[in-house]
Amino acid sequence: MNPVTVITGGSRGIGAAVARRLAHDGHHIAIGYRRDHDAAAAVLADVRALGRQAVAVPADTTDPDQVAGLFDAAADLGPLTGLVNNAGVTSPIGAFTDLRPDDLRHVVDVNLIGYVLCAQQAARRLDTGGAIVNISSAAATLGSPGEYIHYAAVKAATDTLTIGLAKELAPQGIRVNAVAPGLIRTDIHALSGMPDRPDRNAGRVPMGRPGEPDEVAGAVAWLLGPDASYTTGAVLRVAGGM
Ligand code: NAP
Repeated sequence: MNPVTVITGGSRGIGAAVARRLAHDGHHIAIGYRRDHDAAAAVLADVRALGRQAVAVPADTTDPDQVAGLFDAAADLGPLTGLVNNAGVTSPIGAFTDLRPDDLRHVVDVNLIGYVLCAQQAARRLDTGGAIVNISSAAATLGSPGEYIHYAAVKAATDTLTIGLAKELAPQGIRVNAVAPGLIRTDIHALSGMPDRPDRNAGRVPMGRPGEPDEVAGAVAWLLGPDASYTTGAVLRVAGGM
Protein backbone atom coordinates (compact mmCIF):
# COMPACT_ATOMS: atom_id res chain seq x y z
CA MET A 1 0.00 0.00 0.00
CA ASN A 2 1.27 3.50 -0.81
CA PRO A 3 2.08 5.88 2.05
CA VAL A 4 -0.36 8.81 2.30
CA THR A 5 1.19 12.11 3.31
CA VAL A 6 -0.32 15.53 4.03
CA ILE A 7 1.91 18.47 3.15
CA THR A 8 0.83 21.93 4.28
CA GLY A 9 1.99 24.79 2.08
CA GLY A 10 2.54 22.28 -0.70
CA SER A 11 1.84 24.66 -3.56
CA ARG A 12 5.19 26.44 -3.71
CA GLY A 13 8.78 26.42 -2.52
CA ILE A 14 9.94 23.73 -0.12
CA GLY A 15 6.47 22.18 0.22
CA ALA A 16 6.10 21.75 -3.54
CA ALA A 17 9.58 20.18 -3.78
CA VAL A 18 8.65 17.79 -0.96
CA ALA A 19 5.41 16.84 -2.73
CA ARG A 20 7.24 16.01 -5.97
CA ARG A 21 9.99 14.10 -4.14
CA LEU A 22 7.57 12.05 -2.03
CA ALA A 23 5.44 11.26 -5.09
CA HIS A 24 8.60 9.99 -6.77
CA ASP A 25 9.18 7.79 -3.69
CA GLY A 26 5.66 6.30 -3.95
CA HIS A 27 3.53 8.50 -1.68
CA HIS A 28 -0.02 9.57 -2.41
CA ILE A 29 -0.15 13.27 -1.56
CA ALA A 30 -2.63 15.73 -0.05
CA ILE A 31 -1.41 19.30 -0.27
CA GLY A 32 -2.85 22.25 1.57
CA TYR A 33 -2.32 25.84 0.50
CA ARG A 34 -3.90 29.21 1.08
CA ARG A 35 -4.59 31.09 -2.15
CA ASP A 36 -2.29 30.24 -5.07
CA HIS A 37 -4.64 27.85 -6.91
CA ASP A 38 -2.57 27.73 -10.11
CA ALA A 39 0.59 26.78 -8.26
CA ALA A 40 -1.28 24.05 -6.36
CA ALA A 41 -2.76 22.71 -9.63
CA ALA A 42 0.74 22.50 -11.16
CA VAL A 43 2.04 20.43 -8.24
CA LEU A 44 -1.03 18.19 -8.40
CA ALA A 45 -0.43 17.55 -12.10
CA ASP A 46 3.23 16.62 -11.48
CA VAL A 47 2.30 14.21 -8.68
CA ARG A 48 -0.36 12.54 -10.83
CA ALA A 49 2.04 12.30 -13.77
CA LEU A 50 4.18 10.08 -11.52
CA GLY A 51 1.21 7.73 -11.14
CA ARG A 52 0.26 8.75 -7.60
CA GLN A 53 -3.07 9.95 -6.28
CA ALA A 54 -3.25 13.55 -5.15
CA VAL A 55 -5.63 16.18 -3.80
CA ALA A 56 -5.08 19.89 -3.27
CA VAL A 57 -7.20 21.64 -0.68
CA PRO A 58 -7.32 25.39 0.00
CA ALA A 59 -6.94 25.16 3.78
CA ASP A 60 -5.65 27.93 5.99
CA THR A 61 -3.67 26.14 8.69
CA THR A 62 -4.68 28.70 11.31
CA ASP A 63 -8.33 27.59 11.03
CA PRO A 64 -9.10 24.32 12.88
CA ASP A 65 -12.09 23.50 10.63
CA GLN A 66 -10.12 24.00 7.43
CA VAL A 67 -7.29 21.86 8.84
CA ALA A 68 -9.78 19.08 9.62
CA GLY A 69 -11.11 19.40 6.04
CA LEU A 70 -7.61 18.92 4.64
CA PHE A 71 -7.13 15.71 6.63
CA ASP A 72 -10.64 14.50 5.68
CA ALA A 73 -9.72 14.95 2.00
CA ALA A 74 -6.47 13.04 2.55
CA ALA A 75 -8.46 10.12 4.01
CA ASP A 76 -9.89 9.52 0.52
CA LEU A 77 -6.37 8.52 -0.60
CA GLY A 78 -6.03 5.76 2.02
CA PRO A 79 -4.92 5.48 5.66
CA LEU A 80 -2.76 8.45 6.67
CA THR A 81 0.93 7.67 7.22
CA GLY A 82 2.55 11.10 7.48
CA LEU A 83 2.41 14.87 7.85
CA VAL A 84 4.87 17.50 6.68
CA ASN A 85 4.12 20.63 8.69
CA ASN A 86 5.54 23.20 6.30
CA ALA A 87 3.16 26.15 5.69
CA GLY A 88 5.03 29.13 7.05
CA VAL A 89 5.42 32.87 6.73
CA THR A 90 7.92 35.53 7.67
CA SER A 91 7.14 39.24 7.85
CA PRO A 92 8.82 42.36 6.47
CA ILE A 93 12.53 42.30 7.20
CA GLY A 94 13.51 45.02 9.64
CA ALA A 95 14.62 46.10 13.08
CA PHE A 96 12.94 44.55 16.13
CA THR A 97 11.73 48.00 17.23
CA ASP A 98 9.77 48.39 13.96
CA LEU A 99 7.89 45.08 14.27
CA ARG A 100 4.15 45.62 13.99
CA PRO A 101 1.84 43.67 16.35
CA ASP A 102 -0.25 42.35 13.43
CA ASP A 103 2.85 40.93 11.73
CA LEU A 104 3.96 39.33 15.00
CA ARG A 105 0.53 37.76 15.50
CA HIS A 106 0.43 36.44 11.93
CA VAL A 107 3.83 34.77 12.29
CA VAL A 108 2.78 33.12 15.56
CA ASP A 109 -0.60 32.13 14.09
CA VAL A 110 0.74 30.38 10.99
CA ASN A 111 4.09 29.04 12.20
CA LEU A 112 3.09 27.91 15.69
CA ILE A 113 -0.69 27.61 16.04
CA GLY A 114 -0.99 26.22 12.50
CA TYR A 115 1.69 23.60 13.18
CA VAL A 116 0.02 22.57 16.45
CA LEU A 117 -3.43 22.25 14.86
CA CYS A 118 -2.05 20.11 12.02
CA ALA A 119 0.04 17.92 14.30
CA GLN A 120 -3.02 17.38 16.49
CA GLN A 121 -5.07 16.16 13.52
CA ALA A 122 -2.21 13.89 12.44
CA ALA A 123 -1.75 12.46 15.95
CA ARG A 124 -5.45 11.61 16.12
CA ARG A 125 -5.47 9.94 12.71
CA LEU A 126 -2.15 8.07 12.52
CA ASP A 127 -3.83 4.99 14.00
CA THR A 128 -1.21 2.49 12.97
CA GLY A 129 1.83 4.72 13.51
CA GLY A 130 3.55 7.03 11.09
CA ALA A 131 5.76 10.09 11.00
CA ILE A 132 5.54 13.85 11.29
CA VAL A 133 8.21 16.22 9.97
CA ASN A 134 8.06 19.83 11.10
CA ILE A 135 9.86 22.36 8.91
CA SER A 136 11.77 24.54 11.35
CA SER A 137 14.62 26.91 10.43
CA ALA A 138 18.29 27.47 11.14
CA ALA A 139 16.96 30.84 12.39
CA ALA A 140 15.87 29.01 15.57
CA THR A 141 19.48 28.92 16.75
CA LEU A 142 20.83 31.96 14.85
CA GLY A 143 18.19 34.43 16.13
CA SER A 144 17.81 36.46 12.90
CA PRO A 145 18.98 39.83 14.34
CA GLY A 146 17.99 42.81 12.19
CA GLU A 147 15.65 40.64 10.15
CA TYR A 148 12.88 38.89 12.09
CA ILE A 149 13.74 37.80 15.63
CA HIS A 150 10.09 36.94 16.33
CA TYR A 151 10.13 34.43 13.43
CA ALA A 152 13.33 32.87 14.78
CA ALA A 153 11.75 32.57 18.22
CA VAL A 154 8.70 30.82 16.80
CA LYS A 155 10.95 28.41 14.88
CA ALA A 156 12.67 27.61 18.19
CA ALA A 157 9.19 26.75 19.47
CA THR A 158 8.87 24.37 16.50
CA ASP A 159 11.95 22.52 17.73
CA THR A 160 10.47 22.25 21.23
CA LEU A 161 7.16 21.07 19.78
CA THR A 162 9.12 18.40 17.90
CA ILE A 163 10.94 17.16 21.01
CA GLY A 164 7.81 17.04 23.17
CA LEU A 165 5.62 15.42 20.54
CA ALA A 166 8.29 12.84 19.75
CA LYS A 167 8.22 11.71 23.39
CA GLU A 168 4.44 11.84 23.79
CA LEU A 169 3.65 10.02 20.55
CA ALA A 170 6.44 7.42 20.56
CA PRO A 171 4.27 4.83 22.36
CA GLN A 172 1.76 5.12 19.48
CA GLY A 173 4.48 4.36 16.95
CA ILE A 174 4.54 7.93 15.64
CA ARG A 175 7.97 9.45 15.01
CA VAL A 176 8.30 13.26 15.07
CA ASN A 177 11.32 15.08 13.67
CA ALA A 178 12.20 18.49 12.28
CA VAL A 179 14.21 19.75 9.35
CA ALA A 180 15.89 23.13 9.84
CA PRO A 181 16.70 24.69 6.47
CA GLY A 182 19.06 27.63 6.10
CA LEU A 183 18.88 30.08 3.19
CA ILE A 184 16.75 28.36 0.56
CA ARG A 185 15.80 29.86 -2.78
CA THR A 186 11.99 30.29 -2.59
CA ASP A 187 9.39 33.06 -2.87
CA ILE A 188 9.30 33.54 0.90
CA HIS A 189 12.08 36.12 0.63
CA ALA A 190 10.14 38.26 -1.86
CA LEU A 191 7.20 38.18 0.54
CA SER A 192 9.47 39.55 3.29
CA GLY A 193 10.57 42.36 0.98
CA MET A 194 13.98 41.05 -0.12
CA PRO A 195 13.65 38.72 -3.14
CA ASP A 196 17.42 38.44 -3.56
CA ARG A 197 18.07 37.62 0.12
CA PRO A 198 19.47 34.11 -0.58
CA ASP A 199 22.15 35.43 -2.96
CA ARG A 200 22.74 38.60 -0.99
CA ASN A 201 23.43 36.60 2.20
CA ALA A 202 25.28 33.69 0.57
CA GLY A 203 28.54 34.97 2.07
CA ARG A 204 27.25 34.00 5.53
CA VAL A 205 26.93 30.36 4.48
CA PRO A 206 30.07 28.25 4.99
CA MET A 207 29.28 26.37 1.78
CA GLY A 208 29.13 29.72 0.00
CA ARG A 209 25.73 29.37 -1.67
CA PRO A 210 22.01 29.25 -0.93
CA GLY A 211 20.24 25.89 -0.94
CA GLU A 212 17.57 24.65 -3.32
CA PRO A 213 14.15 23.33 -2.22
CA ASP A 214 15.05 19.86 -3.56
CA GLU A 215 17.96 19.68 -1.14
CA VAL A 216 15.52 20.10 1.76
CA ALA A 217 13.06 17.62 0.26
CA GLY A 218 15.63 14.83 0.39
CA ALA A 219 16.03 15.25 4.15
CA VAL A 220 12.26 15.22 4.66
CA ALA A 221 11.92 12.05 2.57
CA TRP A 222 14.59 10.31 4.64
CA LEU A 223 12.95 11.26 7.96
CA LEU A 224 9.56 9.97 6.75
CA GLY A 225 11.00 6.74 5.41
CA PRO A 226 11.99 3.36 6.86
CA ASP A 227 15.70 4.21 7.05
CA ALA A 228 14.80 6.65 9.85
CA SER A 229 12.89 3.99 11.83
CA TYR A 230 14.83 4.68 15.07
CA THR A 231 15.04 8.47 14.61
CA THR A 232 12.62 10.61 16.59
CA GLY A 233 12.94 13.99 18.30
CA ALA A 234 15.75 15.01 15.94
CA VAL A 235 16.26 18.42 14.35
CA LEU A 236 18.16 17.85 11.11
CA ARG A 237 19.96 21.00 9.94
CA VAL A 238 20.05 21.49 6.17
CA ALA A 239 21.81 24.83 6.04
CA GLY A 240 25.13 24.57 4.22
CA GLY A 241 27.03 24.73 7.54
CA MET A 242 25.25 27.79 9.00
P1 NAP B 1 7.00 29.86 0.36
O1 NAP B 1 7.74 29.59 -0.91
O2 NAP B 1 6.58 31.26 0.65
O3 NAP B 1 5.72 28.89 0.37
C1 NAP B 1 4.86 28.96 1.48
C2 NAP B 1 3.74 27.95 1.31
O4 NAP B 1 2.93 28.01 2.49
C3 NAP B 1 2.82 28.27 0.14
O5 NAP B 1 2.37 27.04 -0.37
C4 NAP B 1 1.67 29.04 0.80
O6 NAP B 1 0.45 28.91 0.08
C5 NAP B 1 1.58 28.30 2.12
N1 NAP B 1 0.95 29.06 3.19
C6 NAP B 1 1.35 30.23 3.74
N2 NAP B 1 0.52 30.58 4.73
C7 NAP B 1 -0.42 29.61 4.82
C8 NAP B 1 -1.54 29.39 5.66
N3 NAP B 1 -1.90 30.26 6.62
N4 NAP B 1 -2.27 28.27 5.46
C9 NAP B 1 -1.94 27.38 4.50
N5 NAP B 1 -0.88 27.52 3.68
C10 NAP B 1 -0.14 28.63 3.84
O7 NAP B 1 7.84 29.37 1.63
P2 NAP B 1 9.08 28.35 1.75
O8 NAP B 1 10.31 29.14 1.68
O9 NAP B 1 8.88 27.18 0.89
O10 NAP B 1 8.91 27.94 3.29
C11 NAP B 1 8.36 26.70 3.70
C12 NAP B 1 8.74 26.47 5.15
O11 NAP B 1 10.16 26.46 5.27
C13 NAP B 1 8.26 27.56 6.11
O12 NAP B 1 7.85 26.96 7.31
C14 NAP B 1 9.49 28.42 6.32
O13 NAP B 1 9.46 29.10 7.54
C15 NAP B 1 10.58 27.36 6.26
N6 NAP B 1 11.92 27.86 5.95
C16 NAP B 1 12.17 28.45 4.76
C17 NAP B 1 13.46 28.90 4.49
C18 NAP B 1 13.85 29.57 3.21
O14 NAP B 1 14.96 30.14 3.13
N7 NAP B 1 13.04 29.53 2.18
C19 NAP B 1 14.46 28.75 5.47
C20 NAP B 1 14.14 28.15 6.66
C21 NAP B 1 12.87 27.68 6.90
P3 NAP B 1 -0.09 30.11 -0.86
O15 NAP B 1 0.94 30.35 -1.91
O16 NAP B 1 -1.37 29.60 -1.41
O17 NAP B 1 -0.23 31.32 0.06
